[in-house]
Amino acid sequence: APAEGRAGIAVGPAERPVPRFEDLPEYKQVRMQELASQLVGIANPFYRTHDVGAGAVTEIDGRNLINFASYDYLGTNRHPAVHARVAEALARYGVSASASRLVAGERPVHGILEERLAEFYGVEAAVVFVSGYLTNVTVIGTLLGPEDLVIHDELMHNSALAGIKLSGAARRFFRHNDMDHLEELLAGFTGKFRRILVIAEGVYSMDGDVADLPRLVELRRRYGFWLMVDEAHALGVLGKTGRGTHEYFGIDPNEVDIWMGTLSKTTSSCGGYVAGSAALATVLKGSSGGFIYSVGLAPALAAGATASLDLLAAEPERVARLGANGRLFRDLAKAEGLDTGLSEGHSVVPVLVGDSLRAVRLSNDLLEAGVNVLPIIHPAVPEGQARLRFFITSEHTEEQIRTAVRHTADILHALEKQNFGLASVDR
Ligand code: PMP
Repeated sequence: APAEGRAGIAVGPAERPVPRFEDLPEYKQVRMQELASQLVGIANPFYRTHDVGAGAVTEIDGRNLINFASYDYLGTNRHPAVHARVAEALARYGVSASASRLVAGERPVHGILEERLAEFYGVEAAVVFVSGYLTNVTVIGTLLGPEDLVIHDELMHNSALAGIKLSGAARRFFRHNDMDHLEELLAGFTGKFRRILVIAEGVYSMDGDVADLPRLVELRRRYGFWLMVDEAHALGVLGKTGRGTHEYFGIDPNEVDIWMGTLSKTTSSCGGYVAGSAALATVLKGSSGGFIYSVGLAPALAAGATASLDLLAAEPERVARLGANGRLFRDLAKAEGLDTGLSEGHSVVPVLVGDSLRAVRLSNDLLEAGVNVLPIIHPAVPEGQARLRFFITSEHTEEQIRTAVRHTADILHALEKQNFGLASVDR
């Protein structure tokens, strides 16, 4: 007879073995990567601990480094004016909203931030969520269903893909920024689904180029689909006053149905938002699971995001400085013979390396030289397109940018000469 457990439950040999997490391909992949980095003697570049607030400089293991790996585009993360507003909200409302906004989690700072975002975009309304990732998941998951089709840029962020999966909608992608390809798909599919949603990113997160918003808007008028633009890397970046992609192109913001963005980048907080029509906000607040069944955004984070937007409005020179820094970085990199890919020199400038191992080694050697920048390797980008991704901020000095570009070029060119990389390890 099987032995009896404390609650009288049989604890004998299992009839059917419980699946082991160790058997998952995802587990094996991570272990393989760790093993590979040990074999070639390069420290894992991921999950490093920074013992200071993110900004143009950082500190790892007691060493001060020039930092190109954080999203603090306008240098608001450590700004005293932002801190004061966060402290005020923290003192008044505590750490957590402690309930869904629907129930008991609503605080004045939520409404204030949403009004501020709507006004900033020049649209009727906005809704904030607890994470940028969650925003894409729950918004797309709520608005679309199995009768619908989503057509998205092939380089769209993982969070949007997760939202499409949740929605059950059919999915097609168009070649990156290729509006003719999108039009081909629209011509073939329009009328065959209940609704079509087209999604693009204002500034693409891995390549740093800009969506062709004029063409997207023109196609929307002709084919009658919902247009959604993810402004994660464009808010506070594009346009003279940082209003994003529509300001950059001089397009009426109401020609885009769903402006989506995150609070974690330019507004140095945490959370996400959607801005658009009042009806859209009503639908999302009334029926999106990620809004209704999740805690309200932490009040201090809402206050921090609003304070960052206020700072952006009061000091638009931050936007100009970020733009100048992005262009300087890209131009210097090109002059040094580095491949910055499609980057238009805004918030994100990649340096394409190709080989994953070479990218990891380059990042490692740059850290030694005092520059913190992360490699992006497969599966985040296709195999053979590994890169370093530099996040630019308004607070980088010209000297910091020159130093980073010079070291990157020197080290990468030396690695290329040695033919350092996976290809040479294979042989
Ligand atoms: N969309 C894009 C394009 C992003 O780059 C990111 C963040 N990397 C997100 C959404 C998710 O935002 P968050 O990190 O604030 O959750």
